[in-house]
Amino acid sequence: KMSAQIGMGEVKGVVVVVGCGLAGCMTAMLLARRGYTVEIFERNPDWRTKFKLEGDDLHRSNIKRSINLALSHRGRCALGRIGLEAEVLKFAVPMRGRAIHTSKNVLDPLGFQPYDAYDRKNCIYSVGRERLNNLLLEKLEEMPNVTVRFSHGLMHVDGEGVAHFCNGTGESLNTYNDYAKGTYQIKPRLIIGADGAYSTVREAMLRLQSTNFSRRYISHGYKELTIPADSSGGYALKNHEALHIWPRGSFMMIALPNPDKSFTATIFAPLHTEPAENNTSNIGLMDIKTRDDVKEYMSTHFPDALGAMPNYQEEFLENPTSPLVMVEVTPWNIKDKMVLLGDAAHAMVPFYGQGMNSAFEDCLYLDECIDKFKGDLSLAVPHFAESRAPAGRAIAQLSLGNYLEMRHHTGSSLFLLQKKLEGALNWAFPDYWIPLYKMVTFTRIPFDKVIKREDTQANILRRSFWLGAGASAGIVVWALNKLIRSSL
Ligand SMILES: Cc1cc2nc3c(=O)[nH]c(=O)nc-3n(C[C@H](O)[C@H](O)[C@H](O)COP(=O)(O)OP(=O)(O)OC[C@H]3O[C@@H](n4cnc5c(N)ncnc54)[C@H](O)[C@@H]3O)c2cc1C
Repeated sequence: KMSAQIGMGEVKGVVVVVGCGLAGCMTAMLLARRGYTVEIFERNPDWRTKFKLEGDDLHRSNIKRSINLALSHRGRCALGRIGLEAEVLKFAVPMRGRAIHTSKNVLDPLGFQPYDAYDRKNCIYSVGRERLNNLLLEKLEEMPNVTVRFSHGLMHVDGEGVAHFCNGTGESLNTYNDYAKGTYQIKPRLIIGADGAYSTVREAMLRLQSTNFSRRYISHGYKELTIPADSSGGYALKNHEALHIWPRGSFMMIALPNPDKSFTATIFAPLHTEPAENNTSNIGLMDIKTRDDVKEYMSTHFPDALGAMPNYQEEFLENPTSPLVMVEVTPWNIKDKMVLLGDAAHAMVPFYGQGMNSAFEDCLYLDECIDKFKGDLSLAVPHFAESRAPAGRAIAQLSLGNYLEMRHHTGSSLFLLQKKLEGALNWAFPDYWIPLYKMVTFTRIPFDKVIKREDTQANILRRSFWLGAGASAGIVVWALNKLIRSSL
């Protein structure tokens, strides 16, 4: 046990990254490229080995997350920085817009809403989470200055800045002191908490300094199902280069394409049954318990899709129903010793498809801050934490707002009209007028600035509307006046 421990003196230049998820691997890679010695720790055993040994189910229960993700500009920029963008795009499926399923009678989408009406080249990409994570891990393992330690869960960080890890099973821990010390200790130059929404690094920060923290569960959750390839081996949904949405007002189903010609469908709906309009109720996902319940729910709300989902009843009952959580924390750092990024700093609901993208952008921005301060972490880390936190709060807020747009507005013709108008304005004034979705998804404008800019644009639109309405009313009055005078 002792041989596994590192002495208590600070190991110069070592950066500890906690969490081998997407953000952890990305930041580890960026720092290692700068020459830091990086030790990256993951609580779970290596899922690549487990996956091979024990099958898909175990792996899925380990990742406990969506199977695929929408990758967009911010994430691509970070991948570009580590030279992996082209490789990732090879196994990604482009999604050029939203395909909307408003009819309950036909499977084909009735509407298509391009993501960028002005520049159709702009699209987002569906990527497999596992494949992306594994690619990052493989590349990390090739770097001589990186050590990847699976089955090492961080337990706590003490007041001296020593991080205490425990091996996955904790089998060698018998006494309270064993637990407090852990099986592996290290005092690095910097600890990066990339350990997700339930971060232990953040827990340690809450104890070590005055830190504000909130974790909020929304009342809706999600359930994943599969739309397999059709009998001829092709995609079962027409227009596979799209993110499919079945907007149903207060809930929805979406589907993202996979390279194997399947789609992963996700139902976002209340977890518990809620009263709805006209004395009806929205059945909660947790209250659907039998095959008959599933059949009734799906054939009431998504009958058009059932023909393409042969195993929906089994999957519905077998696959977990998962909650959706939002995290807010300030500050994100303790001086230049500990810092949070990704979900650990700003977990959000997934409706803007920006959780991973913004996590990757955090990593990229930290790297840019290190550039800006010429490698001086004592300046770069606090600057990163302070200047990036408003963006984290902003994207969490935008993500929640986008749920209403996806589940409700995408099915309305007024919304389509608004999108067309925004597209036209963007075409006429490309540098001045950028639709909200485009700013979030296809630019690197900081999210807090996106909100400010969108407020200004919405104000201009409102004023132009009233100006136009006023001018039209003036013309009508003038014309009426002329008509009356000439008739009398
Ligand atoms: C249904 C759903 C759909 C989504 N779709 C999208 C999308 O389309 N686009 C998008 O950009 N984002 C999407 N997201 C968000 C995205 O999944 C997250 O934002 C992203 O995974 C965050 O990465 P992370 O590395 O910060 O955290 P995580 O992915 O949670 O990784 C944290 C890692 O840390 C490890 N860990 C935790 N505690 C410890 C510890 N004490 N010691 C050591 N290791 C530890 C965990 O095991 C895990 O491996 C979606 C999320 C959900 C739930």
